[in-house]
Amino acid sequence: MALLDKFEKYDLLFGPSPISKFENLAKELGGKVNIYAKREDRNSGLAFAGNKLRKFEYIVPEIIAGDYTHIVSIGGIQSNQTLMTIATACKLGLKAVTVQENWVPIPEAEKATYDKVGNIEAARILGGDVRLVPDGFDIGMRKSFEEALQELTSQGFKPYPVPAGCSEHKYGGLGFVGFADELIKQEKEMGIKFDKIVVCCVTGSTAAGIFVGMAQYGRENDVIAIDASGKPEKTFEQTLRIINHTSEILGLGKKFDTFNFDTRFGGPVYGIPNEGTIEAIKLLGKTEGTLTDPVYEGKSMQGLIELVKEDKFEKDSNVLFVHLGGASSLSAYQSYFS
Ligand SMILES: *Cc1c(COP(=O)(O)O)cnc(C)c1O
Repeated sequence: MALLDKFEKYDLLFGPSPISKFENLAKELGGKVNIYAKREDRNSGLAFAGNKLRKFEYIVPEIIAGDYTHIVSIGGIQSNQTLMTIATACKLGLKAVTVQENWVPIPEAEKATYDKVGNIEAARILGGDVRLVPDGFDIGMRKSFEEALQELTSQGFKPYPVPAGCSEHKYGGLGFVGFADELIKQEKEMGIKFDKIVVCCVTGSTAAGIFVGMAQYGRENDVIAIDASGKPEKTFEQTLRIINHTSEILGLGKKFDTFNFDTRFGGPVYGIPNEGTIEAIKLLGKTEGTLTDPVYEGKSMQGLIELVKEDKFEKDSNVLFVHLGGASSLSAYQSYFS
């Protein structure tokens, strides 16, 4: 029995997410390694899918059991977290309130449309109560979030708070522990071992979950987290805290004091791509016909590409890119591609 089985789960995904092979990209990079991608960007029929739903699967049972009326969450204007909170609330027949802050120094060329297109357009279509707030980027608990909760409570509602990226939620890391269990099964079916797993990291529970999940098999050092926060000290500290918390509630009986974390690609700041990010997005698009975004996956793909170029992976090893979704924000970044 898997350690995760003692936790209740509510299905929001299609099932195991598919794995594609990026042969053209691998060839373009010199044929040194095999590159695969686990497609969390194609894991569900809700909105634009993605990693947040896998986290919600272990949070929803408490929401249902507690008779809550609203799910409240927080993110930037083009947040995937807030959109997927709204989609989850739709599925459960509940309401959602999302606090969306000014986390990104919006480029001049995007200012007219940044708060109208992409994820926020989708959020409005799904009937979300979207609240734009001018505060800046922070992955922790926020005042505007507390205020939204208090307001709903004073109106007689019962709001359920979900922190940024689900990460500081007590069960935020569990979904991606399940990802690791799923991957181990897929390895057996495919007759392959993924030597390294490259994953984007900002609020931390995705990478933390995969790390703890792989630690069950003694393979936590195979996980390479790529910073996309532009504030790597804070992301490192939060991710490590989630790793140890998740390990503890799972009953793994292990404590950790570090994890592989590459901080070179998160700049210039959260939500703004650097030159290499845009090149990585274009290279993956051109070679594989697959889309990534300038906020998250463009940066982790940039990291993967650089690590291949630097010969950081053993020759002929199998490298797994975890595609967490997010391409739905691309229309808010049109100026980088026109
Ligand atoms: C939220 C998100 C991430 C970052 O995951 P964390 O668990 O916050 O570290 C990466 N990619 C996409 C597409 C996301 O939506």
